[in-house]
Amino acid sequence: MAELRLDGVVKRYGRTVALDGMSFEVGDGEFFCLLGPSSAGKTTTLRAIAGLEPLQAGSIAFAGREVTGAPVQGRGMAMIFQTFALYPHLSVRQNLAYPLARDGKARDEVRRRVDEVAELLRVGHTLERRPATLSGGEQQRVAIGRAIVRRPKLLLLDEPLTNLDAKLRHDMRTEFKRLHRELGMTMLYATPDQLEALTMAERVAVIRDGRVVQTAPPRDLYARPDSTYTAGMVGAPMMNLIQGRVRHAKGGATIELPFGALDAARWGDGLRAGDEVILGIRPHDVRLGSDPHALSLRAGVRLTEPLGDVTVLDLAARGAPLKMVLREEVASRLKEGGEVEVSFRPQDAHLFHKETGVRIG
Ligand code: ADP
Repeated sequence: MAELRLDGVVKRYGRTVALDGMSFEVGDGEFFCLLGPSSAGKTTTLRAIAGLEPLQAGSIAFAGREVTGAPVQGRGMAMIFQTFALYPHLSVRQNLAYPLARDGKARDEVRRRVDEVAELLRVGHTLERRPATLSGGEQQRVAIGRAIVRRPKLLLLDEPLTNLDAKLRHDMRTEFKRLHRELGMTMLYATPDQLEALTMAERVAVIRDGRVVQTAPPRDLYARPDSTYTAGMVGAPMMNLIQGRVRHAKGGATIELPFGALDAARWGDGLRAGDEVILGIRPHDVRLGSDPHALSLRAGVRLTEPLGDVTVLDLAARGAPLKMVLREEVASRLKEGGEVEVSFRPQDAHLFHKETGVRIG
């Protein structure tokens, strides 16, 4: 059953359309991510769900009842922001206790719940300190603690890791997964970072210009992006997107690319001669060496980018840029300015209409 449902939500600020028919459903207890670039409408979506934004159209239902236009209090939700927004003059204990004290909870219960949350988030040793004396990661944990101390049914997280350094972001991704498992709470997490979305979420909604363009589990988004937009957003390094044109020849249809022709049989009758297409191939699916069952080509090595265990190779084939990923010990034998023979197979390729960006087949 859907715990949270947005249906055709429209939000305008003057002439700016922030949400343009935002619709999606989040299941009870699900970890759901909104993935989109800056200005796509993620924050506005979370604020609308929390009841902080009056809407021009659409509806929001939560826990079996319509909440559009209902007051913020009593929705059973809590929100965590990019900036931790802790009270600087209060101790960590007081920060955590604040939402409970405001609810008029008895002292004993407040103490017990604060201790519980502090243990869960591993900030027990900081309880008597002021937030400014904590590390960024500890501050973020306290902010999470303050959001969950009232045991909300839905936790809204707005890019909560943006202000942390890389190592902490990594640790906190694991932490969020653990919290989700232990608390069983529904989590809606907004981020521009595909790595966060793919590693944590059970399902991801890809957002563009105030609406959802694709919703799927991370694995499916990666394996079958249904537009060039999602293809470009999911996967690192980014999928190679190469312009091509469909040709019908005696041997069957092919896709003419700057560096050769790819057998188009697998896309069947959906292709007409002359159609302009975008061929997508993931850098991980470009192989070293030629292959009789694949499109083989020679490419110049423009740049090598060692990442430790693997190296990203920036190639150019007849003017078309092409990236591939190789294990470090293989890549180290190749030189910038040299040439390599590479190949990729039709079954690894993704095909999109050039004009609409929509997936074919
Ligand atoms: P995201 O969180 O994905 O970066 P936002 O939801 O913050 O995107 O913003 C969506 C769009 O709405 C942007 O074009 C932004 O400039 C605009 N917007 C957001 N809040 C306001 C506001 N208070 N006043 C005017 N425009 C706003």
